[in-house]
Amino acid sequence: MVYLIFLLSMLVDLDHLIANPIFDKSRCSINYHPLHSYVAIAFYAMGLLFKKSRILAFALLLHMIADALDCYL
Ligand SMILES: [Zn+2]
Repeated sequence: MVYLIFLLSMLVDLDHLIANPIFDKSRCSINYHPLHSYVAIAFYAMGLLFKKSRILAFALLLHMIADALDCYL
């Protein structure tokens, strides 16, 4: 289970890797990558409501928060 969560949070990071250029400090990844869109974030937030997906949703939201801090600070 923990491995699955780890794998899925890695998948979200693939979003960064397929972007061009791969790494751009000035670019905000929120709403730039498909898995970082507001729609995706709303989906992750919904995942918090269900016990089965709660941990995963939490991990994904933490990733979004970290990315958001990266672009607003
Ligand atoms: Zn990200």
